[in-house]
Amino acid sequence: MSLRPDGAGPERLVVGAGISGLYAALLLARAGRRVRLLERAARPGGLAGAELFRGLPCDLGSHRLHPAALEQPLFREVHARAPFLSRPRRGVLVLGERHVPYPPSVPSMLRALGLRAGAAMGLGFVAQRGRRAAFARWEHDRAIAGDDVGFERFVRERVGAAAYASFYRPYAEKVWGIPPSELSQTVAKKRISTTSPLALFRGLARGRGGAATDLARFVYPPAGISSLIAYLEARLAEAGVRAECGAALDAAGVAAAAGAAPVLFAGDLADLVPDARLEHRGLYLVYLAYPRARLGAPETYYCPDPRFWFGRVSELQNYAPDLRRPGETVLCVEIPEGAWGRGRDFASGRPLAALLDQLVCAGIAPRGVTPIEARQRFVPSVYPLYRRGWLQDWRAAMRRAAALGALPFGRQALFLHCNLDHCAAIAADAVAHVEAGRSPEAWVLSAERYLDVQVRD
Ligand SMILES: Cc1cc2nc3c(=O)[nH]c(=O)nc-3n(C[C@H](O)[C@H](O)[C@H](O)COP(=O)(O)OP(=O)(O)OC[C@H]3O[C@@H](n4cnc5c(N)ncnc54)[C@H](O)[C@@H]3O)c2cc1C
Repeated sequence: MSLRPDGAGPERLVVGAGISGLYAALLLARAGRRVRLLERAARPGGLAGAELFRGLPCDLGSHRLHPAALEQPLFREVHARAPFLSRPRRGVLVLGERHVPYPPSVPSMLRALGLRAGAAMGLGFVAQRGRRAAFARWEHDRAIAGDDVGFERFVRERVGAAAYASFYRPYAEKVWGIPPSELSQTVAKKRISTTSPLALFRGLARGRGGAATDLARFVYPPAGISSLIAYLEARLAEAGVRAECGAALDAAGVAAAAGAAPVLFAGDLADLVPDARLEHRGLYLVYLAYPRARLGAPETYYCPDPRFWFGRVSELQNYAPDLRRPGETVLCVEIPEGAWGRGRDFASGRPLAALLDQLVCAGIAPRGVTPIEARQRFVPSVYPLYRRGWLQDWRAAMRRAAALGALPFGRQALFLHCNLDHCAAIAADAVAHVEAGRSPEAWVLSAERYLDVQVRD
């Protein structure tokens, strides 16, 4: 591929060096453009970056790629140089003290819940004809055409009170920390509707197993997701582009920088429109190094149980097999900011002791084995907080960003809950839009289509 590092035409400014901004910068450089890439943090990577712990670049929470990613040029290119592993995911749903393979099958779920509770939940769903019909229209209805009835009512109308109380409410409360009635009904689509309990109920209704087969097999970079970031940085360096770290751009900066071409903005939308009601919730990551070669076979445990502070726990070497040290294994514990707020320390003192107890109680860590080291990292902008009525705020914020001369793309600028392959596809669209000489206003009008992306986790 021929590169023209000297570039042609006006310089393109890209803001935010997560996967979206890095890939957009690379596409522009490969198109022969001069590119500047600004990043607020000390290092590129964003949510696909790494925390160096015990000498290992640990993902910021476990990552895997949906096989659909391999249909995209970026992932095909990386795969050709350093092949990904393709295999069934080894996920576990923790229900009380029981472990159910994730995605679960109907029999395994019933065994874990006990027949009575399982039957009550299944019957609560199948017994009502109206509820079944609403369930079938779920994906269609959750998009806000008119009134946003809120997460709680939307989900209860589809799966009944028992399933709502067992799975959906605790999970929503854990992640967002506000009453689920204040959350938008679109949240039900953006996270919960892709989880397997729904597939389970559908399976029950049809009288057969209901595993979400689309989520059973995944693709894994052996050295973790941050190896994708390292790949993009290396290709950019070959093209003479380096992210300028420690450089944040706000609304005034964008307005000053937008000239002949719009600013490709993959940073946080709130930096451009600070008064928009579009906040994110963060995630505490607690890395624990245990003096054991391995703790278990699962790569990730999913833990909706409100007794546990964590929503997910993953064992690094089980999803990134190149990342291990002899005689040690690393757990990454994900504690959503939820109702905790910011500024907590879970990696020392009593909170750490309580956390270790919870890991034992959940059957994830063995009793009597103490970690050699614990480290916390807080990641601020992880979950978009979709309050009821957010779509109006989103539209207004998008228009204001465009008026500044910004073309918002990427997870944070579009206020999306999405996967890496969505980010790469949107980055390619954004670059094509700018290169075709089209305006930011035209982009934000068309960007609403991205709100339909289906996150797969
Ligand atoms: C715990 C966790 C698990 C996940 N698991 C998966 C998975 O298994 N599979 C999958 O496909 N996806 C997964 N994802 C999602 C995936 O990581 C993200 O969608 C993707 O990395 C987002 O990339 P981005 O570049 O759009 O945004 P980000 O990674 O958020 O990057 C934005 C960058 O912009 C910078 N920035 C922000 N504002 C400014 C500013 N004003 N000026 C300059 N710089 C700025 C930030 O510092 C950041 O580096 C997961 C995410 C998390 C948090």
